[in-house]
Amino acid sequence: MGLSDSARAALDATARAMLAARYVTALAGAGMSAESGIPTFRGPGGLWTKYGAPDNRGYQQFLEDPRGWWERRLNGNQMPEMREALDRAQPNPGHHALVELEDAGVLRHTVTQNVDNLHRAAGSRSISEIHGNHTLIRCVACVSRFEREEIPLDELPPMCSRCGGLLKTDTVMFGEPIPPDVLRACQTEAARSDCVLILGTSAIVYPAAALPDVARRLNDATLIEINPNETALTDACSIVVRAPTGEALPELVAAIRRLRGDTRSMAGVPDAT
Ligand code: NAD
Ligand code: ZN
Repeated sequence: MGLSDSARAALDATARAMLAARYVTALAGAGMSAESGIPTFRGPGGLWTKYGAPDNRGYQQFLEDPRGWWERRLNGNQMPEMREALDRAQPNPGHHALVELEDAGVLRHTVTQNVDNLHRAAGSRSISEIHGNHTLIRCVACVSRFEREEIPLDELPPMCSRCGGLLKTDTVMFGEPIPPDVLRACQTEAARSDCVLILGTSAIVYPAAALPDVARRLNDATLIEINPNETALTDACSIVVRAPTGEALPELVAAIRRLRGDTRSMAGVPDAT
């Protein structure tokens, strides 16, 4: 469809950089899921662009009144626009393309800031959900995670069957520290990377936005942005693809196939470079 010539040229350069790299990772943000119908926070059409940003005390308010939080959640009156979008959303061609890149051994890991579960739904396996996953429940004390169906909700707030701690959604709230296990995994992956795809993120939410710079400082990593709009990391990127990820990533898969001389499927094909 509508990719510009300059976006196509930048995607070819991206494919070459990825095949030349030792360890490619991706940092994904809300823009990856825009084409699945989930609104972003920032940028044109973003929820906060429309309504303004919420206050920073979400986690504090949860800790002060966990029962009230759970009651509001079960009554469905927390950000209904977002909840309905999350319930309806399906992975888009961008998510599927990341799975193909992972299956082909070209993409080693994805750190996503999205809580929408769409990377997993598409089939990504090597992922870290730095802001959690809205379909899971997590213990604030021992960090155990549970499927929603495993947790009885007849008494609120629910408590952890392993340690008795308080249970909350796995989604990281405003003011809540990133769970230590996932933060460690993200830092380890950043430290391994010599090429990072920065996909549909405004790159201003920390610590996620700092991960590409860890790779650049430690490994002189090539940073590549795919986003229709300029971001806080654009200037740090040596390749910029100005296009939506749902259109650009399938084209990137095709460009890598061409470079590898493979016209059918990429999966399992030995690296021809
Ligand atoms: P953000 O809302 O701050 O920025 C969205 C970015 O996506 C912008 O740079 C915008 O230009 C870009 N974008 C818009 N459409 C795009 C498209 N089709 N393809 C590629 N890029 C596109 O998002 P963020 O940086 O991820 O930070 C927001 C935080 O809020 C995240 O950390 C996340 O936890 C949470 N959030 C999650 C979801 C979700 O799970 N889908 C949605 C909204 C917000
Ligand atoms: Zn526990």
